[in-house]
Amino acid sequence: MFEVIEIESKNREEMISITDKVSEIIRKAKIKEGICVIYVPHTTAGVTINEDADPSVKKDILNHLSKIIPYNESYSHIEGNADAHIKASIIGSSVNVIISNGELLLGRWQGIFFCEFDGPRRRKIYLKIL
Ligand code: ZN
Repeated sequence: MFEVIEIESKNREEMISITDKVSEIIRKAKIKEGICVIYVPHTTAGVTINEDADPSVKKDILNHLSKIIPYNESYSHIEGNADAHIKASIIGSSVNVIISNGELLLGRWQGIFFCEFDGPRRRKIYLKIL
């Protein structure tokens, strides 16, 4: 089973929770056991799993990534978004989540985040449920 989630980021850098959207697709699909592959087909965005309780965690992740990989550096890539490409590679473009009893098997505090590094843009997230 294959699904596409479409989202619109509002800022240049942003972590957007997609946990509810992914959960809803799995519930509708009535899949009880399996694996959900969540894949971002973009070169300046990624996907990660982290704390979705305290919003300051998202802020710290984005701020510290920007400290390590500043926007204004002498990069070779002339498009002006080299930092976004590097951040996307560090975060990664896919995560796998176990489906158990028809639900995503996430830890109590975990959420799935789409990570925008060169927004605002319209973006796609691919889901493959196995
Ligand atoms: Zn580029």
